[in-house]
Amino acid sequence: MEGEKQLEDCIFCRIALGQIPTKFVYEDENIAAFRDINPRAKVHMLIIPKKHIASLAQAEEEDQSLLGRMCLVARRLAEKEGIANSGYRLICNCGKDSGQEIAHLHFHLLGGQFLGIFAEE
Ligand code: 5GP
Ligand code: ZN
Repeated sequence: MEGEKQLEDCIFCRIALGQIPTKFVYEDENIAAFRDINPRAKVHMLIIPKKHIASLAQAEEEDQSLLGRMCLVARRLAEKEGIANSGYRLICNCGKDSGQEIAHLHFHLLGGQFLGIFAEE
C-alpha cells in the first residue's frame, strides 16, 4: 500500500482508507472486501484493490498478481459465506455500457440464490 495512488474524491479509495466506516469481510495489505450497500442478491459483496485503478481498462501488467489475488479472495469469501457448492458469480463492470457507477475497480461476488440470466433487456 505504501506509495500507492489513492484519490480523495473516490468513494472506494475512502472506504479502503477507513475514511468511510465500512465493515470489511476480508482485508489484507492490498485488497479489501465488504458487502454491497444495495444488495442485488442474498450474498452481494464487493472486492476491491486498495490502490486506485479506475476500471479493468486501466489495469496494467504490473497488476497481474493483484487481479489474480482478487479472484482467489472471491473464492475464499464464497467458501466462508457457504455458497461455494451452490454456486456464485463474479462480475466486473467496465465502462459505460456495463453500467459501471463507481470508477474504482471492483468485483461483485453474487450468490445465495439462483442468479438467472447474464444481462437484462
Ligand atoms: P458498479 O455499477 O460500479 O459495478 O457497482 C457499484 C456498486 O457499489 C453498486 O452495487 C453499489 O450499490 C455499491 N456501492 C456504492 N456506494 C457504496 C458504498 O458507499 N458502500 C458500499 N458498501 N457499497 C456501495
Ligand atoms: Zn479509488
